[in-house]
Amino acid sequence: GGTPLTLLGLGAMGTALARAWLAAGHPLTVWNRTAARTEPLAAEGAAVAGTAAGAVAANGLVLTCLLDDASVREALADADLDGRDLVNLTTSTPGQARALAEWAGQRGARFLDAGIMAVPRMIGVPDSGGYVFYSGSRELFDAHRDTLAVPADTRYVGSDPGFAALHDVALLSAMTGMFSGVAHAFALLRREEIPPKEFAPLVEGWLTGMAPYVHLMAAQLGSGDYVTGTESNLAMMVAANATLLDTAREQGVSPELLTPYLELMARRLADGHGAESDTGVVDLLLH
Ligand code: NDP
Repeated sequence: GGTPLTLLGLGAMGTALARAWLAAGHPLTVWNRTAARTEPLAAEGAAVAGTAAGAVAANGLVLTCLLDDASVREALADADLDGRDLVNLTTSTPGQARALAEWAGQRGARFLDAGIMAVPRMIGVPDSGGYVFYSGSRELFDAHRDTLAVPADTRYVGSDPGFAALHDVALLSAMTGMFSGVAHAFALLRREEIPPKEFAPLVEGWLTGMAPYVHLMAAQLGSGDYVTGTESNLAMMVAANATLLDTAREQGVSPELLTPYLELMARRLADGHGAESDTGVVDLLLH
């Protein structure tokens, strides 16, 4: 058997994590606010604690996978964390993670925060593409990295406890922009006889083809030179953006998902950066 551990929270994600550790032979103690959700896991070999404090007392390694930061605070309120290794797998902001790290440290615990880049069906599946960002105590990470690697691959991103959440939320934010563009694209075709199912592979192929452009943006942000390497300059793109907006109008589609980004590009052009790529939009967002 592996390292014994405690998991607080048996929602969709917590249940998948619990099953992965049980399948790998780790003695597991679970707690969930709604006790009925512990029953299937008890049948699969987990020990069930009646209270969160009791679950924390059961093992040195304690993981939380609850809805949000407030639910973690609530669940851990009466727990004795002295000498515990606490790993928070709950999605939170960098600020919440740093505050929780401070709070846990004051109670004598080592602390790691995490950001799960996977959905439940990827958990415990080798090579699923899913992984988990960790940040905070390097000692805790090194002591438990094999146990942490059971549900998904691990990526330690620094001793600042806010960095896992920052990486997680940055990727989710990038995804949000991608899907807002996809929603607009489907809306453009909605009233025509173009089956979404036939269009979807074209969207996937185009976005996959364009994705490596992030490396040009990164190189330009690194050097501060937003012209070198630019193939599509801002002056050209802003002109092309008029075609995007006119097409939306022709098709009877609201431009509201497009306009925030297009307006930033136009502002950057107006500031005299027509020869650059759209990398300068990043600078406009900092205030
Ligand atoms: P669920 O909504 O399925 O489960 C939420 C869990 O939080 C339940 O165990 C619930 O208990 C518990 N909970 C909620 N409020 C409280 C509270 N005040 N006190 C104690 N327990 C509470 O969510 P998931 O399992 O899907 O997600 C858990 C975390 O994992 C979230 O932070 C989510 O962002 C993250 N995550 C989820 C992914 C997913 O695809 N599902 C992907 C990546 C990250 P009860 O059963 O009593 O309601």
